[in-house]
Amino acid sequence: MKVTEQLKNSNETIISLEILPPTKGKSIESIYKHLDPLMEFKPSFVNVTYHRAEQVYKKRPDGNFERVEIRKRPGTVGICAALMNKYNVEAIPHLICGGFSKEETENALIDLHFLGIKNVLALRGDAAANEKFFTPHPLGHRYAEDLVRQIVTLNKGHYVEEEIIDGVKTDFCIGVAGYPEKHFEAPNLDTDIHHLKNKISIGADYVTTQMFFNNEHYYNFVKRCAEHQVNVPIMPGLKPLTNQNQLTMIPRYFNVEVPVDLYNEMMKAKTPEACDQVGTEWLLAQCRDLLKNKVPVLHFYTLSKPNVIYNVLKQLF
Ligand code: FAD
Repeated sequence: MKVTEQLKNSNETIISLEILPPTKGKSIESIYKHLDPLMEFKPSFVNVTYHRAEQVYKKRPDGNFERVEIRKRPGTVGICAALMNKYNVEAIPHLICGGFSKEETENALIDLHFLGIKNVLALRGDAAANEKFFTPHPLGHRYAEDLVRQIVTLNKGHYVEEEIIDGVKTDFCIGVAGYPEKHFEAPNLDTDIHHLKNKISIGADYVTTQMFFNNEHYYNFVKRCAEHQVNVPIMPGLKPLTNQNQLTMIPRYFNVEVPVDLYNEMMKAKTPEACDQVGTEWLLAQCRDLLKNKVPVLHFYTLSKPNVIYNVLKQLF
């Protein structure tokens, strides 16, 4: 079912999970082990992230270096198909602009359509590891809004290959990313929301947010979006903070703040178990407050801590 239909049919807050494909060489069993306990809570969706290829230099036998592309976490589409099969859950693949030509994107969308996938999250992606700024593929897209436009166009049966007449229409429900504390490149939140609004005007159906640890950022974002006439569902993205390294790593990578109370509690925790406990309690309090405010969805970045998410969900439902 499409995200939009699911939300229309549900009077209660629904649960959505996000996972990463395993690193190359690892079994899909690691994903099942991660998700099996969480399926008890009947998530409506499982998002599967996409990780672009990285360019690395490998030493050749003659001593020279050659530049090669490696993908550390392939398998997004395969995992989506496997999850739909195993758990009968809607899987949502993430699609990115970075590294893809429009034709490659079209071919990926055709695969997804053939697999019966109804939802996609359309993203720009970050700069490649060897680049300072995001550089689009020469035949690809610069912004997520361009990717949204391509998906909307395919939904109307118009293909990049213009010779195709009467092409089959896809029917993707399209999600996009939103940033309650603004995207790190945006000069200010209003400008960022202006660009978010473009993605919605072009045809995106809902927004999933970057993680936040202070719900006020989410409420303010929803309010500011409404002022910009962004009236689609906005799903809060939630992640447990579970170790002291994350106190500096998460703000640096995701441009989000760690509230002072959370910082202080985490700094007092002396063992991994105590850190997990701090993260569990903080996330639980966030979720309780969001539920009280009747958010449409709780979207969990499960990453390496499914046990914390499990404990939170067990206490909530
Ligand atoms: P855009 O919407 O294109 O925005 C990027 C920046 O450009 C913003 O600052 C925006 O304000 C600005 N902008 C947008 N349009 C215009 C315009 N027309 N003119 C000028 N400026 C403009 N990354 C991955 O690689 N794989 C994933 O699976 C993945 N999943 C994610 C899931 C979620 C829920 C979120 C929040 C992020 C995810 N990301 C993922 C990270 C994301 O790719 C990065 O944050 C990226 O830097 C921006 O992507 P975007 O889709 O928000 O880009």
